[in-house]
Amino acid sequence: MERLGERTTMMAKNQNNNAPVQKNDIITATFEDLTHEGAGVAKVDGYALFVPYGLPGETAKIKVLKTKKGYGFGKMLERIEESRDRTDAPCPIYYLCGGCQLQHMTYEAQLRFKHKQVQDAVTRIGGLDHVPVHPTIGMEDPWRYRNKAQVPVGTRDDGHLKAGFFQKRSHRIIDMESCIIQQGANDEAVQIVKNIADHYNIKAYDEESHRGTLRHIVTRQANSTEQLMIILVTNGPDLPHKKDLIHDLREAMPNVTSIVHNVNSKKTNVIFGEKTEVIWGDEYIYDYIGDIKFAISARSFYQVNPSQTKVLYDKALEYAELRGNETVIDAYCGIGTISLFLAQKARHVYGVEAIPEAVSDAKRNAKLNKLDDITTFAVGEAEELVPWWHKANGLQPDVFVVDPPRKGCDEKLLQTMIDMQPEKIVYVSCNPATLARDLNILEDGGYETKEIQPVDMFPQTNHIESVTWLEKRSKRSV
Ligand code: SAH
Repeated sequence: MERLGERTTMMAKNQNNNAPVQKNDIITATFEDLTHEGAGVAKVDGYALFVPYGLPGETAKIKVLKTKKGYGFGKMLERIEESRDRTDAPCPIYYLCGGCQLQHMTYEAQLRFKHKQVQDAVTRIGGLDHVPVHPTIGMEDPWRYRNKAQVPVGTRDDGHLKAGFFQKRSHRIIDMESCIIQQGANDEAVQIVKNIADHYNIKAYDEESHRGTLRHIVTRQANSTEQLMIILVTNGPDLPHKKDLIHDLREAMPNVTSIVHNVNSKKTNVIFGEKTEVIWGDEYIYDYIGDIKFAISARSFYQVNPSQTKVLYDKALEYAELRGNETVIDAYCGIGTISLFLAQKARHVYGVEAIPEAVSDAKRNAKLNKLDDITTFAVGEAEELVPWWHKANGLQPDVFVVDPPRKGCDEKLLQTMIDMQPEKIVYVSCNPATLARDLNILEDGGYETKEIQPVDMFPQTNHIESVTWLEKRSKRSV
């Protein structure tokens, strides 16, 4: 985030937050940069104003909405000069729905934006000027990629069901006919489920009164097998017209192989409740990433963009340079996706993951692929379990892979990695800022960051994924 410059302080108006502009001012300014969320950054005498949908190089009339010490927020009233990176957002509800943030940018500009975010983070936070950051690998067709739809259900003014997305920063449901980042089958399935439920007069759940039945429609598609799972989340154990629903859903969608009922009676924003029952078909749908087969249940975590997942994991595998006799640790392993990918080329892979259900899925997937002999999955905090593996069991990995959540790796884990001295570290990251922070620690611990490859897993959104290759310094520099 931009800091208040010296000049701004001197020019500050008579306000306690030192801003050179005030709420409700209308100013003309040029955008110079983008925030990591994809908003435009305009400067007024060095003071940063964050304005949604502004693009670098564009000049616009801006209304100031809020000022704080060091930065403020504004709203674009009119564009005076447009960037060549601007495009018409194809989704009709883009500016209402909070799901996508970058549809007003050409895809090429989105890829450049993501690359720059990674580059800036490693330079500014990590202090690593020398590290090559490759151009972001994007999708050929950056639409209709999501394999999972989770859609809240509400009641229209005319009493019929609506299903869509919560309006930005609110709990108003926008009725939606299509979500163009969803795979076609999911998109259609949501409409079909909504219409069938409406036909049987099933009532939507109402958050305020905590009454009504249907809370969410969730659909998951396995790309490679085209199997479809439908999950109905209700407020209470009762699912009216269950038999009719099953019959009609199957008839309308021949690819459905699994219909699941989940009960969530709590007053909460969390989608799923504790009780899950398969009411027709199989417990799992099956998908392949490369040659590895995955069983996906209603509650399993699974990557939402399978084709780009393959690109990301291929890169991780390339950076790991496995020859077949390596011991590998995969920390934050989830359902073992990366672990199994690596196991195809390693002697043994140890996966560690905090959520017990994910570890059960990982073990099941290992068996499914006949890789259970050469993989070990354990439940625990990586920062607790890995040091124990090291000290008590003398485990010594050749390659250490991490794929932590947004907050990055625990410092204790980073220290253990440094103590263990693997030849290589492969760091998959969904947050450039924490990646840069962690790379800095690993560099101090004797590792050299060789290169970083951003991969666009979530086109049209501001999420940034990358994979980094590090090597033990003594190894190739002696
Ligand atoms: N590598 C997996 C999942 C990565 S998401 C994949 O590609 O599918 C990050 C995972 O880290 C989540 O599954 C989360 O449950 C897990 N996690 C979060 N904190 C953890 C910790 N301290 N120790 C181990 N796992 C953790």
